[in-house]
Amino acid sequence: NSEPKKEDLQRIIELMDGFKASKALFTASKMCVFDLLQSRPGLDAGQVAQEIKASAKGTECLLEACVSLGLLKCKERTYQKPAYVNTDLATRFLLSDAPFSLQGYIWHCNDTVWPLFSHLESAVQEGTNQHEKAFGKKSKDMFQDTFYNNQAVKLRFMNAMHSIAKVTGKAVATAFDLCGFKTACDLGGCTGAMAYEFTKAHPALSVTVFDLPAVIEMREHFHPLQKDNRVSFVAGDFFKDELPKAELYILARILHDWPDEKVHLLLSKIAHACTPGCGLLLSEIFLDEDRNGPSRGLLQALSMSEGKQRSATEYSLLLKNHGFITANIRHTDNLLDVMLCIKDVHCS
Ligand code: SAM
Repeated sequence: NSEPKKEDLQRIIELMDGFKASKALFTASKMCVFDLLQSRPGLDAGQVAQEIKASAKGTECLLEACVSLGLLKCKERTYQKPAYVNTDLATRFLLSDAPFSLQGYIWHCNDTVWPLFSHLESAVQEGTNQHEKAFGKKSKDMFQDTFYNNQAVKLRFMNAMHSIAKVTGKAVATAFDLCGFKTACDLGGCTGAMAYEFTKAHPALSVTVFDLPAVIEMREHFHPLQKDNRVSFVAGDFFKDELPKAELYILARILHDWPDEKVHLLLSKIAHACTPGCGLLLSEIFLDEDRNGPSRGLLQALSMSEGKQRSATEYSLLLKNHGFITANIRHTDNLLDVMLCIKDVHCS
């Protein structure tokens, strides 16, 4: 019964306090603290409080917590009140207009994921999502029943997807040489952010973004400044409707949302639309083969959507059932891993 080691104590405290750190980040982001300090660096706590219409005491606690988390710096001037500025980390990821802004995803975490995780005990007991407890309504199809039947919630979800796609898009789009493909279809391509990364990286490629009508009707909100006529949008349901023809199908962060039966339905539709030699590019967090990590994927699974997290081998086997042979797997230094599969010439 030796005394606990300092590192062990630190690790366990970090885990116990993790939720407080997340919520402090979410709150500062929702109260637009980082945008404020970008336009007016060096404000003191009282000035920030006035601008964000919050209490002086609460704001001071929030700013000090953000300093301790490496999100703000405090330029202490002798005999003057501490003046706050954003750190490089905040400037890179937390401003609403930063190229790699994660604000959309952070707001989604605060407003949707946090309430779901506050019912984690029931989620584990029941093995189902907790949309009814968290939001007062049952959700059979998370997208159509929860995210898309309210305009504000839909935009928030789309902003979240948009921000992650902008951060991950280049790494996914450049993971493989795709010069053999001229046309692609990004199934569940949401705002088109990923599609634009593909056309930027591959000058000869045109991409059709296919998503539910409720999503496609909002596409103008997310159009980049320079329009690219190699990106087009088609509305439909990928479980029910005919898929646009393409030489390469992209499935980025789609399959983890669905159970094997639904994955088979979708893959059979893609296989049907493909000719031999067509490609399927899959991007997900690939679990380690022993399922011991990465915790990002395993923690996401706790939201108990209908779907599940899988390893690269599990994905390869699902795809093989539909005649797709895994050609290459890449673990990027970004948030998502990527796999390229080719439709077998012997199976059409
Ligand atoms: N691929 C995007 C990305 O990586 O940023 C978005 C991923 S998001 C987790 C899942 C996407 O699948 C959403 O845009 C959603 O609208 C779309 N989706 C869900 N069910 C769908 C269906 N039945 N038909 C077409 N799209 C669907």
